[in-house]
Amino acid sequence: MLRLDKFLCEMNIGSRSQVKLYLKQGLVTVNGEIITKPETKVDENKDEVAFKGASCRYRRYVYYMLNKPQDIVSATKDNLNVTVTELLKDTGYMDLFPVGRLDKDTEGLLLMTNDGALAHDLLSPKKHVKKVYFARLERALTEEDVRLLEQGVDIGEEKYTLPARVEILPDQCIHLTITEGKFHQVKRMLNAVGNNVLYLKRVVMGSLRLDEGLRPGEYRELTTEEIQCLK
Ligand code: URA
Repeated sequence: MLRLDKFLCEMNIGSRSQVKLYLKQGLVTVNGEIITKPETKVDENKDEVAFKGASCRYRRYVYYMLNKPQDIVSATKDNLNVTVTELLKDTGYMDLFPVGRLDKDTEGLLLMTNDGALAHDLLSPKKHVKKVYFARLERALTEEDVRLLEQGVDIGEEKYTLPARVEILPDQCIHLTITEGKFHQVKRMLNAVGNNVLYLKRVVMGSLRLDEGLRPGEYRELTTEEIQCLK
């Protein structure tokens, strides 16, 4: 059982304050009866809740793809900076968190969910989930740099990276595919071969590819197919 206003928020109907207004306006029914009190308890598996006449099926977990912009931190709370969670507050889901982290100046694919088990799986070092980054570099890579990056480089304290894949793109850009998530990994890998990353964007995580239709700061729900492929 949970409060009707919380249920409606989790159903993505609106923020807590919007939902309270909808209730006051008589737009919500439970088992056919108009309910206006936000604190009314509903059984999410049994009660038939409808908003503006359309039935709401309860979904415990939700999944969003965010194109993280620069200058936003991958956290749920931060005293100084805007967080990715704040970007998704209009979803009405207040329990979303980012699956992993991108640096403040990194853009691109960030999965936002409230499904802790899936996040745990995707982030587990044992699972070696593939991540593809688009990077613009200070200098073009040599063949030797590519060989070293693909074989594994020392990114400090004798920590060697696992084999990676480099695809050379025009204008000193690359796609770098890695299967780990060490702190600042891409930047440190490029530093290890005497280069610098000027711009970094994640484009793939596991089976998920960044929807190029999403501009930085925009997000959308994953499709049923995308969710199934991730699990
Ligand atoms: N590697 C980095 O250096 N930064 C990121 O944000 C992600 C991977």
